[in-house]
Amino acid sequence: MKNIPKRHLVLVLGDQLDEDSGAFEGFDPAQDLVLMVEAFEESTHVWSHKIRTTLFLSAMRHFADGLTKRGWQVEYRSLDSHGDQTLADGLLAALVQHQPQAVIGVEPGDLRVRQQIEDVVKTAIESGAARARKQRDTALKDTLKDPKNDTFGAFLTWREDKHFMCSLPQFRKWAGTSSSLRMEFFYRQMRKQYKVLMDADKPGEPLGGQWNFDADNRKSFGKAGPQNVPKAISYKPDAITKDVIKLVNQHFSKHPGELDDFNWPVTRAQALIALRDFIDNRLPQFGPHEDAMWTNLDFGWHSLLSSSLNLKLLNPLEVVLAAEEAYKKHDLDLASVEGFIRQILGWREFMRGVYFLDMPELKTANHYGHKNPLPKWYWTGDTHMNCMKQCIGQTLKNGYSHHIQRLMVTGMFGVTAQISPQAICDWYLAVYVDAVEWVELPNTAGMALFANGGRFTSKPYVASGAYVKRMSNYCTGCKYEPETRVGANACPMTTLYWNFLDRHEASFAGNPRTALMVKNLQRMTPELRADVRVRAAEMLADLNSL
Ligand code: FAD
Ligand code: SF4
Repeated sequence: MKNIPKRHLVLVLGDQLDEDSGAFEGFDPAQDLVLMVEAFEESTHVWSHKIRTTLFLSAMRHFADGLTKRGWQVEYRSLDSHGDQTLADGLLAALVQHQPQAVIGVEPGDLRVRQQIEDVVKTAIESGAARARKQRDTALKDTLKDPKNDTFGAFLTWREDKHFMCSLPQFRKWAGTSSSLRMEFFYRQMRKQYKVLMDADKPGEPLGGQWNFDADNRKSFGKAGPQNVPKAISYKPDAITKDVIKLVNQHFSKHPGELDDFNWPVTRAQALIALRDFIDNRLPQFGPHEDAMWTNLDFGWHSLLSSSLNLKLLNPLEVVLAAEEAYKKHDLDLASVEGFIRQILGWREFMRGVYFLDMPELKTANHYGHKNPLPKWYWTGDTHMNCMKQCIGQTLKNGYSHHIQRLMVTGMFGVTAQISPQAICDWYLAVYVDAVEWVELPNTAGMALFANGGRFTSKPYVASGAYVKRMSNYCTGCKYEPETRVGANACPMTTLYWNFLDRHEASFAGNPRTALMVKNLQRMTPELRADVRVRAAEMLADLNSL
């Protein structure tokens, strides 16, 4: 690439693979340059799953390829060509080499990354990279005569992430100064704003007379187990993906996961196929068994669209509208369609708003003061608890497990086993293909761990082994017994649940949504309660052996 000063350096991050990105507004192929950086640190700051790293790098390379084919100038700093340790290293090198007039990017979805970029830009300005450019570019000299122009603000522009349906200012306005936020009310506003699933004959009213059909959706599979499970489609790795697989195996060989069956969409074209496959083959049955779990059922009727959405290969509005159109065209089950749309139009947008509203405090929140380290078997699945073994095993195999597996198995154990929220959050950020901090952190710290004290959930998500037994077949053949609270066969989910209630009896009793749990606790004899405490203490002292 010729070493001529560039007008704009347009920074595209690994989860910003959006052809309609705000960063490209006004892009002039003759004088602007796109910069994309593969950095080791992005796979090592948490111990990133090989599948997650492969997905990001392959999708980035495909995206860069597409821009180059458009005739745009792209500086792509790959791990093998440049070996940048951090994004900052890559950006600084590009600033020095290209001496751009300005850097443009879309607001990162991870405040750590934003800070890193801002720091490096400040360093570059201070160390004279920008000044060197100023001296060499006479046209620019005039612009920079005013010293105010040669400041950080004039040099680095963050543009809004237009991918989202609710802008951050809109979310902030909606949230106001309220200490407690409820997704349900936000979701209703979004339904009205986007006119999704609204009753054409009753203005302002939801289709079917209800905003939320969750009550129809939480079924188990019953004894027979899942029937007529749809087959997941496969995406054959092309030369780019094969190269990345080789690279990841070479540099991150000790990281969790295997790449032999890598099968996630890495281009917009593949993401659109994934969307069509879901709408045609799984959306009609999405709702009823959305929460159910079963041994070796890797994906069920879930959409598997989160990674494509989070990389920005898909736009959330197009996904929502595709589901609504299918509902109208094929008269699908409203509970399934509403349940699916709520996840995207409601939860996904809501979580993003919460992240930016509550950071940086959310990152260190620890309402219960939990300090236990993460049991080693979170990285191997090698535990006697069959529910954990299955959910972790699936996660390590695919980089994926569904919402209830994340919330009510791996997440719930984290709360009742009093594990440090930061240790759990790092694990979630590392092992899922869809993990980006803006969505991972509020889900894990906020929803699963109650680490923010219930900012947007009315109660902690805790339950005994009876819940797992009802919603799955995991307890069959497990070493432990879901109903047993004390003794060698006591189910850790159950013992730790009762122990948790015992520890927090007063706060659970004072909450109308959890008061019944406390009534059940109080039915236990004092002797049994004491025995539960003892057994729980034994478990908590040696989580690795469970
Ligand atoms: P589906 O069940 O088919 O749902 C459709 C879409 O709705 C998803 O693709 C996703 O984009 C969106 N969605 C659903 N639930 C949520 C939610 N709670 N928050 C935000 N979006 C949602 N989702 C991520 O995208 N990245 C994460 O890192 C992540 N971490 C999580 C950690 C925990 C502890 C929990 C409880 C949930 C987490 N989720 C995360 C939310 C949810 O579990 C995943 O989005 C979902 O399992 C992805 O699978 P899917 O695409 O098949 O989703
Ligand atoms: Fe999990 Fe307990 Fe059931 Fe075993 S018995 S699978 S530990 S809930």
